[in-house]
Amino acid sequence: MTSTPARKPALAILGKRNLELGPFARDDAQQESGSWAHWRMRTDEDGIVWLLFDRKDSSANTLSEPVLAELNDILGRLERDGPRGVVIRSAKPGGFIAGADIAQFRGVTDVAELEMLLSRGHAVLDRLDRLPAVTIAVIHGYCLGGGLELALACDCRIAVDDASFGFPEVLLGLHPGLGGTVRLPRLINPLAAMTMMLTGRTERARRARRLRLIDAVTHERHVRSAVQAAVNGDLRRRKRDVTGMLLNSGPARRILARRMASEAAKRAPRAHYPAPYALIDLWVEHGGDAEAMRQAEIASFAKLLVGDTAQNLVRVFFLRENLKKLAGGEWPGRQVHVIGAGTMGGDIAAWCAWQGLLVTLADTNRNAIGGAVKRAAELYGKIGRDNRLRVRDALDRLIPDLRGDGADNADLVIEAVPENLDLKRKIFAAVEPRMKPGAILASNTSSIPLEALRENLAQPQRFVGIHFFNPVSRMQLVEVVGQDLAAPDVLAEACAFLGRIDRLPAAVKSAPGFLVNRALTPYLLEALVMLDAGVNKEAIDKAAKDFGMPMGPIELADEVGLDVCLHVADTLRGSLHRDMPEAPQWLRDKVAKGELGKKSGKGLYDWKDGRAVKSREDVVPPADTADRLILPMLDACVTCLREGVVADEAVLDGAMIFATGFAPFRGGPLHYARRRGVADIRATLERLAAQYGPRFAPDPGWDRLPDPTPASAAL
Ligand code: NAD
Repeated sequence: MTSTPARKPALAILGKRNLELGPFARDDAQQESGSWAHWRMRTDEDGIVWLLFDRKDSSANTLSEPVLAELNDILGRLERDGPRGVVIRSAKPGGFIAGADIAQFRGVTDVAELEMLLSRGHAVLDRLDRLPAVTIAVIHGYCLGGGLELALACDCRIAVDDASFGFPEVLLGLHPGLGGTVRLPRLINPLAAMTMMLTGRTERARRARRLRLIDAVTHERHVRSAVQAAVNGDLRRRKRDVTGMLLNSGPARRILARRMASEAAKRAPRAHYPAPYALIDLWVEHGGDAEAMRQAEIASFAKLLVGDTAQNLVRVFFLRENLKKLAGGEWPGRQVHVIGAGTMGGDIAAWCAWQGLLVTLADTNRNAIGGAVKRAAELYGKIGRDNRLRVRDALDRLIPDLRGDGADNADLVIEAVPENLDLKRKIFAAVEPRMKPGAILASNTSSIPLEALRENLAQPQRFVGIHFFNPVSRMQLVEVVGQDLAAPDVLAEACAFLGRIDRLPAAVKSAPGFLVNRALTPYLLEALVMLDAGVNKEAIDKAAKDFGMPMGPIELADEVGLDVCLHVADTLRGSLHRDMPEAPQWLRDKVAKGELGKKSGKGLYDWKDGRAVKSREDVVPPADTADRLILPMLDACVTCLREGVVADEAVLDGAMIFATGFAPFRGGPLHYARRRGVADIRATLERLAAQYGPRFAPDPGWDRLPDPTPASAAL
């Protein structure tokens, strides 16, 4: 069947990318066979069928039931027509296939139905695998999850230079579910295959070639000849990997599995993250029998997907998407001026330059700027190991600016000088008149009310807080702080700026501690109270880690810096009308002595080679330790929600996960509270208040926790 030319233009040039799409290069819709929503098919002059995946109404290709149903239909036709070769390519400039459509994973509960769905998906890929024609996946950009599984069902995989391959399912609490666990360990060294699936790591084309995951890497302009070579059997085929076969034998699998499980346990405890262990079990039990593995993969994937961990991690995926959406459209600016080249300002400047912005960095202290540039070079050396050109260009864009002249041309000026109201006001008074019309002025303050900072500004509507966390390159979340006179479009622009530098914005009201520090402070202070009462510090940290926090509160306090913690705690205590424990005197003495934590080598722990020296890891914390730490944090979150510091639960949960690492497998603090039961949390807080003091008294917000907004409820 042919379809209308209007719907199907030539696709050889897509955006800035010039893809080799064989017969699709010609604007000749008469050539087209079939009529599908997501696929297009043409045959070239050599009799090779080119199948183009172009998921309807979507900028990226993802696999869903309708997409696979159409592919099944197409395969039936190819079985009848019997072409020599079949090429599968994506029409999207960004990449091949990004994986399964994650939206279809949400809220799934019926295991039997899911197994049926997965079996249907398997059947389609098996059919592709059995097709008599030479099947070739030509891959540019990302090729992830289900996309890689589809490519693995082809006879050959040809990568264009920028292609990257991975199985990120483990990050969603899953493992591959469309035959990936069966095909990958048979294609490449099983150890490398398991490592890829257990870590979710992405491999670039050249390394994927070395792993024998793909058959050739080529430039876009040579795709056609590579395809012809593959169809003619002229592509250099892989030799059978004898070591791989040995490693896949039963005894070897059992030995390797023990090592893999102990490695996995260091990063993800079995009780919280079952997927890696399920994958290891699958391989140990069925690695020698493809059909048994196939069946077991389906059952295991379905069981994982209906479980709490996967559902919560899928929620986290959408919480991130939600925050990304808040970043909105394109940021129109290109130049940033940062004032203060200390811990924060230096790192903000380095990150902005890394992300392609022109950055001027000012400080009254020449050495501070020198130190910041040195730190930037070290950071780029790590994150840009494979891309020396990008490192060179980023360093070129980071411009030391002792006189502060960069402020005249900047689209955004970020102030990050010490936390002192008068100093910051003085800086604003000097810089505001220099700024070009339409530029935004921002402060990185952690605790000074924005209303106090904006007092003498000529254009307070163009002033906002942009509160980064330390370290800037690792902390994805940034709070965008409003104030009573800030213009909504300026706040939106600040969010767009954060999107431009690959950070996630969370809009918060100017209130003491904003959201994140306000929620973290009671957690840290309670840990100090326990320490004061003689509870072992390793036990306190263990309780928090057992709950799922990335690090215990004692270690976190050292990591952040005891001076910074003390300052935030004192400021919050002064501004919140709430019973908060006072920071103990010994903490003040420590800070006075310069024992500041990780940065000084000694704090609550001693630090060696960047790690806290812990004497015992096997200590048993008192039974109520986790509740004493976590519930006050949840209570502060409820206060923030009640006071409108943050708009809704989705932003709150996302912010806490991406700023503090709040146990992702629990889906966020408010989600955890709702799952555990609001009545239970309130009753536990009341019990703790009776036992330890009124600081645990539940916030009135628990009594009428608002129904989630439609946006939150959808997550
Ligand atoms: P810092 O002391 O490390 O750096 C401040 C820098 O400002 C110094 O290099 C100093 O020389 C410079 N400076 C002082 N007066 C100046 C002036 N008049 N003009 C130009 N530069 C001047 O401080 P920091 O830790 O980077 O904190 C900066 C801001 O960021 C503070 O408002 C702080 O509350 C906030 N903050 C800090 C953290 C953190 O973890 N350190 C986290 C979030 C926010």
